[in-house]
Parts: sequence; structure tokens; C-alpha cells
Amino acid sequence: MSDVTSVRPLPKIQRLVVKIGSAVVAPGGSLDQASVDRLADDVAAVRRMGVQVTLVSSGAIASGFRLLGLTAPPTSIELKQAAAAVGQQRLMAAWAAALGRHGLTVGQLLLTSDDMLARRRYLNARHTLAQLHQHGVAPVINENDSVSYDEIHFGDNDALSAYVSGLVDADLLLILSRARGLYAEGDENRVIPLVRLGGDAEIAGLSRHVTDTKTLTGVGGMASKLTAIGVAWKLGVPALIAGGDEPGVMGRVLSGENLGTLFLPVDAQAPSRRKAWIMSTVRSAGTVRVDAGAARAVVSRRASLLPSGVTAVSGTFERGEPVDVCGPDGVVIARGLTAYASEQIARIKGLASDKIATTLGQHLGDEVIHRDDLAVLTSGGGGTA
Ligand code: GLU
Repeated sequence: MSDVTSVRPLPKIQRLVVKIGSAVVAPGGSLDQASVDRLADDVAAVRRMGVQVTLVSSGAIASGFRLLGLTAPPTSIELKQAAAAVGQQRLMAAWAAALGRHGLTVGQLLLTSDDMLARRRYLNARHTLAQLHQHGVAPVINENDSVSYDEIHFGDNDALSAYVSGLVDADLLLILSRARGLYAEGDENRVIPLVRLGGDAEIAGLSRHVTDTKTLTGVGGMASKLTAIGVAWKLGVPALIAGGDEPGVMGRVLSGENLGTLFLPVDAQAPSRRKAWIMSTVRSAGTVRVDAGAARAVVSRRASLLPSGVTAVSGTFERGEPVDVCGPDGVVIARGLTAYASEQIARIKGLASDKIATTLGQHLGDEVIHRDDLAVLTSGGGGTA
């Protein structure tokens, strides 16, 4: 059912994030310069179309592990860190050589999820990327695998690329992989051309199409791509999965060719920068549960969250940390930066705001989370507001 006739409603693309999987640049565990060259040609062509391209390239571990004397990709965190230290500079050398053939200079950014969590670092990464683009440099991003560990690990580069698409205000996240798109019921002959996403539930519903067969060096697989697409959806960014060995894939996609699967958020609203960042915080520090009235006020009226509407708090967190807000049914409706620590919320929950000062001996505002600090998952629509 690969649909080649219908026209896909691809938005106008000015800023593109391209995620390139390990199995594309280092199939079988050795860096494939010919693939990197081919993709670099594509990047150069797309840039000539006036499109800003930010690359998220995997392949550090895949290009490094054999140099440690290993015969299979490592599974322990220590060996992954070591393999990445060896492989990352090789990977960058490959990109520098490939893009250099087009007179392009590369700039490397290595990120961990902590860099998304701390607003100062998030903004620094954002400014650095803006400067690189302004100066015509081609940024290549990877996770800082050699220092990342469970707690600050993105998980995989699919997720990283989704956060990066928020960081650079991308109009499209293009995930290039071995898979040529999302296959209907896992049947490789039936690429689903278009998925309109109205919510997280729909992403979960797509799992019936996932029959993951990972390649030797591939990391994420289709399930993790769909999770990443869920993150992009929250940020209001359309995403497209296409085959990384398709010749001229970037230019062809941008010219409107029906390659791969396009995931289009329904009713996407571009979130404000601050809210995009709040949504990008990879982990929440805890959860605040609210009653039905407060849930409605937060979602429909974009109101602040007051202590009177809070019914429970879980996790231990400080003022200023990102927390999830969930409704009475436990479904997350928003993420916000809390004005009060968890232990304080436990004491003021259910109370009117004028009781905060006497209860805590301190008043840090009438709201548990102020509306400016609250990124709401819109009901039935994509994006945040
Ligand atoms: N950051 C890892 C690497 O470069 C890959 C992670 C991934 O592809 O998901 O080797």
C-alpha cells in the first residue's frame, strides 16, 4: 500500500534535523565512508535549497568497538563509553572529510540529557547551534556517550534527535534508518505513507506495526523511533522515517516525494520557547496529582495550578524542578516547573492559597505551578501550549 500518488501535506521546511542511525554509517561495525560521503552530498544539496540542516549522527560505538579488540558491539556501559571515546573522533573525521568535499566546516556537539534539563545549558546549546548555523558551519550532534550513564542517558539517538528538533525549532525531523518507514503490520512491502497524530494514545496504537528486527549495530529499532516521534509530537514537530540508503533521500523528501512514513501532528501549535524547553526536560522529578476541576482549568483554560486542586504528590523534588501533572485518572496532562518543594506541596495540598503563608511560614506565590511554567499537553491535539 505504499502510496505514491497522493500528495502528502508536508509543511514548508526551512530547518531540518536529520538523524542518521549507526546501521547506516557503520553497518556491521565499521565506519562506511562511502555512506557518509553519500549523505554529506545530500546535506550539501539540501543546504543549496536554502534549508538549514542539523545532523544527529550515531555510530560512535559502532565505529569504535573493533578498535578495542571486541568482535561484537559492547553491552556494558563501561565498554560502550570506551568504544564511543575511540569511535566518536573517527566518526567526526569521516563527517569532516565528507562535508569538507563541499567546502563545509563541521562543528561537533556532544550532549547528555542533563543538558536539556538545566535551562542555562539548554540555552547555551541552542545559542551555539544558532551561531554555527549563522556562520555556515554544519553541526553534527551525538550523545556524549563517554560520560553518560543511566541517569543522564537519553536512551538512544532517536530520542536525542527529537529533543534536538525542539532545540533548533525544526520544521521536520527526518530519521534515516535501515527501515524504509513504518511497515503496515511489519510487512516490508507496505510502507505507511502518512500517520496523523492526535495524541500519545495514537502513538501507542502504532505498536502493532512494530516487529523489531534490529541490525548488528542498530541501536534503537522501530519502537524507540515511535517513542521519539512522540517527543517530537509534544514539541509540535512533524517527523519522517525513511531509508538511509535511499539515494538522495533528503532532497527527495523535501521535494515532496512520498518516501517513508510522515508523522504529522494534528493541530500542532508551536510551543513557546520556554514551554518547549519544559517539555524537553527528559525526566520529571516527581508527580503532582490534581482533581478533576483543576485538571480542566489547566487544560482548557490554561490556568495556573493552585494548591486547592492538588490531591497528592509523589517523588522528592525541590522548587524549580520539572514535575508531571496528572489528572485524577493518573494520565499526565502537563509538565511544569514547581514553585514549591514536594515536602511543602504535601503540606499545602487541598488548601486555599491564602493559607500557604501560615502553613509553611513562607509564601513563594499563590500557585504550585504558575501558568507560564506549565506546558500543557493539548487534549486531542498535538503540541504544547
Ligand atoms: N550515541 C550512540 C553512538 O553514537 C548511538 C545511540 C543510538 O544510535 O541510538 O554510538
